[in-house]
Amino acid sequence: MAQIFDRFGRPLRSLRISITSKCNLDCLYCHQEGIPKKDNGKLSVEEIDRIVGICADYGVKRVKVTGGEPLLRKDVCDVFDVISSTKGIKDVSMTTNGIFLEKYAQGLKDAGLDRVNVSLDSIRPEVFSKVTTGDLDRVIRGIKTAIDVNLNPVKLNMVAMRGINTDEIRDMIKFASETGAILQLIGLMENEYSKEFFDKYFYDLKPLEEEFEREASDVYVRKFMQGRTKYILDRGTEVEVVFPMHNTNFCANCTRMRITSDGKFKPCLMRQDNQLDFLTPMRDGASDSDLVEIFKDAIDRKSVV
Ligand code: SAM
Repeated sequence: MAQIFDRFGRPLRSLRISITSKCNLDCLYCHQEGIPKKDNGKLSVEEIDRIVGICADYGVKRVKVTGGEPLLRKDVCDVFDVISSTKGIKDVSMTTNGIFLEKYAQGLKDAGLDRVNVSLDSIRPEVFSKVTTGDLDRVIRGIKTAIDVNLNPVKLNMVAMRGINTDEIRDMIKFASETGAILQLIGLMENEYSKEFFDKYFYDLKPLEEEFEREASDVYVRKFMQGRTKYILDRGTEVEVVFPMHNTNFCANCTRMRITSDGKFKPCLMRQDNQLDFLTPMRDGASDSDLVEIFKDAIDRKSVV
C-alpha cells in the first residue's frame, strides 16, 4: 500500500462519497455537497467497492458516506459492508439527516459503519421546522438509537445561522453532552443558490471560539481535518468548530477527495471546474491501472485556496 501525495505534498487520506443526490428534506441553506444540479446517476455497490479499493491502495484510510440523503438507498447496508471490508480502510462514517437512522442504525453498525454525523440545527421545534422539513422527534430518536448501538462518536452537525439558531448554541452544547454526542458547529457556507441567505444569516464563530478557548480544559487542532479545532469544555463536553469558508486552513489542510453520486472525482468542495469522470471509463471496461491514472490526475487537480 503506497501513500499518495498531491502536488503540494499533502497525503491523500480520506474519501467523501455521495451515494445518492436524492434527499427527503429541504434545508434552507443546503450546499448539496457542491453539486448544483441533482444528477440521476448512482454508483452501484460493486462500483463503490472497486473505486474505494483503488483509493485505499494509495493510502486512503477514512471514508465518509454522504448524499443527498444516504439512508434513502435501500442497499445502504451493502454499501457499508463493502467499504468497511476494504483492506486499509480504518474509519467509516456517514453524514445523515437522521430521519431513517432509528430504523437503520443497528444494520449499519453490523455492516461496519463506525460513527455518524447527524444534521441537527436546532432542538426547538419552531426553529427546526423553519430550517428544514423533517420531524425533529424522529431525528432525536435516531440520534439516541445511534448512541445506543455504539455508532460512536455521534456528532451533531449544527450550521450556525445568525438570528435563527445562534442563541441556541449553548443549549445545543448541553443537549449534545447530556445525550452523549459531540456538537460540531459549522460556519455557514455561501453557495450559488443561497447568496442572499448567506449575506443575511452568516454568523462569525470566531468570538465564540475565543470564549471556548478561555473555558476549555483542552484544545486540539486537527491539522489534517482542514485545521478544525476541538474544544474540551467542562466535564468533558466536546465541541468542534468547522469554518469551511473564508478560511485558508480549510483548503490548505485538505487531504480529502470527494466522489459524486454520478461517479466523478471532485477534488474541491465548491469548485465545479476540476471534476473528473471515472464512471464512464469504468463502465466502458477501464482496467484498474486506467482508473489509477484518473485518480492521480484528480489528485493533481486539488488546490490550496
Ligand atoms: N443529508 C445528509 C445530512 O443531512 O447530513 C448529507 C448531506 S448534507 C449536504 C451534509 C452536511 O452538509 C450537513 O450536515 C450540513 O450541515 C452541511 N451543509 C450543507 N449546506 C451547508 C452550508 N451552506 N453551509 C455549511 N454546511 C452546510
